[in-house]
Amino acid sequence: MAADLHKTAATRGEALGLDIPLELYVFPSPAFNAACVKPQAGRLFIMFSSSLLEAFSPAEIRFVTGHELGHHLFHHHDIPIGFVLRGQQRPDPRLALSLTSWSRYAEISADRAGAYCARDIESVAYALFKLASGLSGGYARFSLADFLKQVDEMQLKRAEPGQSTPTEDWFLTHPFSPLRVKALALSDDSVLARPDGRSVDQLELGVHELMSLMEPSYLEARTPIAEAMRRLLFAGALTIACADNHIEAAEIDAFEKFFGARAFSDRLDVKMIQSELPETTRQVRQQTSLPQRMQVLRDLIVIARANSPPPESERRVLIDIAHGLGISTCFVDQMMNSPTELD
Ligand SMILES: [Zn+2]
Repeated sequence: MAADLHKTAATRGEALGLDIPLELYVFPSPAFNAACVKPQAGRLFIMFSSSLLEAFSPAEIRFVTGHELGHHLFHHHDIPIGFVLRGQQRPDPRLALSLTSWSRYAEISADRAGAYCARDIESVAYALFKLASGLSGGYARFSLADFLKQVDEMQLKRAEPGQSTPTEDWFLTHPFSPLRVKALALSDDSVLARPDGRSVDQLELGVHELMSLMEPSYLEARTPIAEAMRRLLFAGALTIACADNHIEAAEIDAFEKFFGARAFSDRLDVKMIQSELPETTRQVRQQTSLPQRMQVLRDLIVIARANSPPPESERRVLIDIAHGLGISTCFVDQMMNSPTELD
């Protein structure tokens, strides 16, 4: 019933060197979405939402299809990220943060496969804009140049600490979309897309710099601000783990792995750390910019949200920290509910 779509998908599969039969499915949804799962019985399944198929142009569908095939091509489904991050047991904090970082890179890689299939950077960027905004009609006239200019401004402001900056946009609704468009523009400007383009090394350096915006670099940095952020991450994560009045041995193990072997022991006064949490939060608020505070809160949420839905006691701790940091409750709920699976 959708012969053209099948032809599109099969051709993209061949272009990417895949040798596996594809099965396409549509599911009814007003949200633009597509997904691909680990192959079963030697067949690769790609799912599209009904609204996406109706609102996306052929070039945009080529991109979305190529993106999903890219996840398969690069074996991204070998890592059961949703299972690890949203299983019954709280993941090791280091693993949770690493996997979240990894999933950002996985999307960038899949986007490159998608762009290779679409061969039309404007359509690719417009597809990402549609996915992020839900808009497809005449309300917004998409301009790649304007969009990229905005991303450059966001990056520029970040380089000048102390200024009032709009960089918190990075952490809000679909923060990832501008970053993905920028990464695609870099690869479109490289030898991967044009013979006279920049080298692959230059491309990867540019992408790495871009991605570092989202990385929790305060975990390693040796500055007073980074240390204050680490202290809050530690105290917050500990308080969340104890929010239901008991902490399991597995959780203690995970803490020790992350924060150092002696970080959690009998000598460590959990009650005291909990009682000092408001003051620890206040100090971070004093020393950091809003995006930095959002980053540490986001990381706490990544560590906290093993249970879905999270127990009210844990959500309460996160909301208290958010208020102490001057960040709205909806940020917590949005981050709590953001998808962990690759899309
Ligand atoms: Zn994806």
